[in-house]
Formats: sequence, structure tokens, C-alpha cells
Amino acid sequence: MQSKPFLRTLCLLLVTLFLTGLCRAVIATPPAAKAGKIDQVTFIHCGTLIDEVSDEPRQNALVEISGGKFRAITSYTPGFAKPSGAAFIDLASETCVPGLVDSHTHILLQGDQKPGQYDEQILKWSLPYRTILGTQSARRALEYGFTTIRDLETEGAYYADVSIRDAIKQGIIPGPRMLVVTRALNVTGAYAIEGYDPAWNFPHGVQVVDGPVECRKAVREQISNGADWIKVYADQHVSTSNVVHSIPTFTPEELHAIVDEAHRERHKVAAHAMGLEGVHNAVEAGVDSIEHGAYIADDDLKTMVAHGIWYVPTLYIFVYSEEIHQAGGFPGWEGGVGIHAETFRRALKAGAKIAFGTDVGGFEWTINPAKEFPLMVDYGMTPAQALHAATVSGAELVDMKDQIGSVEPGKFADLVAVSGNPLDDIKVLENVNFVMKEGVVFKRPDKP
Ligand SMILES: [Zn+2]
Repeated sequence: MQSKPFLRTLCLLLVTLFLTGLCRAVIATPPAAKAGKIDQVTFIHCGTLIDEVSDEPRQNALVEISGGKFRAITSYTPGFAKPSGAAFIDLASETCVPGLVDSHTHILLQGDQKPGQYDEQILKWSLPYRTILGTQSARRALEYGFTTIRDLETEGAYYADVSIRDAIKQGIIPGPRMLVVTRALNVTGAYAIEGYDPAWNFPHGVQVVDGPVECRKAVREQISNGADWIKVYADQHVSTSNVVHSIPTFTPEELHAIVDEAHRERHKVAAHAMGLEGVHNAVEAGVDSIEHGAYIADDDLKTMVAHGIWYVPTLYIFVYSEEIHQAGGFPGWEGGVGIHAETFRRALKAGAKIAFGTDVGGFEWTINPAKEFPLMVDYGMTPAQALHAATVSGAELVDMKDQIGSVEPGKFADLVAVSGNPLDDIKVLENVNFVMKEGVVFKRPDKP
């Protein structure tokens, strides 16, 4: 027997209203974990402070923080008495620098350069398991001193980066501030998983799209699902000689559709581009950053400089991959490291905007991505330029230069500290022993 329609409708309405209210209450409840700490007034004595504003490091600086932001930077004088209720952190024997920015990471990838690693993660690991590992990678990034990361695709883990970004933002789990691209875009036949029986449908590490209409639709879909940036693969299958050639993936028409759609929705586009043809097409389409750029023609460098297109070279992953090859892993790329280094030198000379990015996740997260710094110096940057690439330049790349990248009143209190001076020895950035993000301390030196 059926119930009367009116009563049934009323019951359904009441249940719906109750559940909606309950869900809103749960979602709106701020996590308790970090809620109280951000209002703490804190004073930090930095023995040396590289604030990325002044030309010279400041000695014995006193940094005042409240509400998660820097409030004042003055001089520390012996006998300083902190106001009651305020906290004091003694970093007198440390050098403080702004929180670092890694502009090319993959928290949902746990190393994919060794044979079998990629397929195992995509085919055998569940999405929940990969997401749990992603939270671990995010925490590691923060502990290495990277308080902001631009995470450049989930490699088959769909929109898990959006969830992790939001959980960090809400203080539920520790991690850096994240900008995410979600799934990334590539064409049919150009991206793993490849090489299996075509009778079966295997998943891919990207969203596969063909033709301008599908390209535009995917951009809309990714943005509506939380993407901060769009990532596109502009080429594949690199062959090396003195000039690195690549096979373009998207046609210029498709690339243009992606860039136009993303820009129309006020989002930026990062292009994976390794060789001459891929870089050229991406630059001509008006992307906002070139990732890897093993070879970039001088004319394209000129266009990048003229249009302010960023170069994120990711030097260490090339060295790491070469080491895997030498140890008998993936087929090698003879001469690739040298060509990349030469491109970096030419880009520097041409005045291209270069941001620090590592591709960590391509190599294991147990390796500190700060290994990128000494390579940037080996290939021609001064230590100050390399640090700048991971602070002020990283901040500008992610459109947050008014909020992060330097130690100035009004900016987020993101601060890391090291023993020694990175301007004398850039390698000290591989041993960060103090990390603060938005006024909250996540790591500090062990004091006896
Ligand atoms: Zn990457």
C-alpha cells in the first residue's frame, strides 16, 4: 500500500532539510588543529636574515609575527624583553630566508623513473592509497622548507590534488600552500599507460583530448573541479643531437584553444615541452610557463622574454634519470644533461624569467628537492639568483608576489632557517631546520 503523496513529500522535505543542515554544519566547522595558533604574537631573532627585499643580508633581525603575517622587521638588541603572552624563537645562530616555492612538483607520484614504477602506481595502487601517500609527500615538501608548491598533475589520480590542497588550507593536515592543475591534457596515443594489449582499455596518466572542442571542454571541466592552473603536454619522444627535436602532440589550433579557454577563465597554462618543436608551438600559443625545456631555440627564448613566459627548467630530474640509465634502468638520453645545461645558460643570458622547479615525485620524495639549487649555480646562476628563483620569482609565477616570496610586513609569515649562509654555500638549503608557514611552526632546531 502506498502512503499518501502529501505526507510522503513532507517527510522527504524534512529529511532533506535535516541532512543538508547537518552537512553544512560539518563542512563549516573549522578544524580545531591549527585554529588557535595563528593569532599568536611571535618574535623571532634571526642571526642573519635574507629578506629578499634588501640588497644585503640583515644581521640580528627581529621579526614580529601575528595573525599569520609578518608585522614588523626591526633590529634585535641584547636584553630584548618580549611582551607578555608573546612567543619568542631564538634563531640567533641561523640564517632565515623566506619560505621556498617549488614550482613543479607531483605529490601523487612516488618516483617514476625506474622500470615498472609508473605502471605499478597507476595500475595497482588504489586512489585512496595514492592520496594517503600524497599527504605524506605534501608534509615532506613542507619539512624541506617549501611553504608553497605548484603541483603539476596527479598522474591518473584524478582530482586528489584538489582535496589535499583544501585539507591543508583548512588545517586538517600539514603541508605547503598548493596550486594544482588536476589531470593535465594530452592527445590520444601520446601518454602512458602504453604498450599493452589494445583489446583492453587501460587508464592514462592524463585526460586524453582530441580536437579544439574537446580541449576547451576539458579545460572547463578541470577548472570547475578546482584546477588553479591548466597543464598541457606539448611534445613527446625526444631525440638528441646538438638540437633536441621532439614530436608535437597537440596541433597549434588545439593548443590555441586550450590557452584561449584557460585565459578566458583567468587561469594560466603550464606546458611540458622538451624539444625545439614542442617549445616553439607552446610559446607561439601563448602559454605562461615552459616546463623542462631541454632545448629552446634562441628565437623562442626571445619570444619568452618579450611575453614574460616563465622557464621552469627542472634540472635535477635530468641528472637523476641519467644516473638511473647508467645503473641499467630506462633507455638513456645521451648528452641530454649537457644540452639542458647549455639551454639554461642561454636562457639566463637572454634574460628569461626562471623559476625554481624540480619535478619531485618523478624522483622519490625521500630525496630533498633542494638538490636543484647547486645545479642552478653550477650552470651559471649566482647563489643569490638561485635563491631568488625559489622565492620572489616563484611568488610571481603563482601570482602571489604581494603575499609570499619575501619577508615584508603584510605578507604571509612563511620563514625557513638554515645553519650557514646560502649565499656562501647554496647547499645549506638542503638542510633546513626551521619551517614556519603562516605563523605556525612546523619544524624547529633540536635544542639541548
Ligand atoms: Zn613533472
